[in-house]
Amino acid sequence: MRPPFPPDPPDWRASAACSGMPPQVVFARREREALPALNACRRCPVARRCEETVAPARSFFDGVSGGRLWRNGRRVRLRHSDVARPHALRARSDGART
Ligand code: SF4
Repeated sequence: MRPPFPPDPPDWRASAACSGMPPQVVFARREREALPALNACRRCPVARRCEETVAPARSFFDGVSGGRLWRNGRRVRLRHSDVARPHALRARSDGART
């Protein structure tokens, strides 16, 4: 007999590159504290899902999502040039302009 509901899909957060990082890093408001999470975003296989789920602008989010640092739902301009959004990096490596 089949269960009445489909099984839960695998939790995408288990694949997050920031998985296991402390909350004070992932939900940091300052770039310096957020750097480990921002760098993890560069190799995160679920970056797009992260940003879609968190919806930082709508949720007034503080912290890191989708390769960006957010403070009160607004993007924080990053000082470190080696930190970039994973989508942009992938496009660049494909030869596309960003
Ligand atoms: S995109 Fe960044 S913040 Fe979001 S799950 Fe991946 S590593 Fe974590």
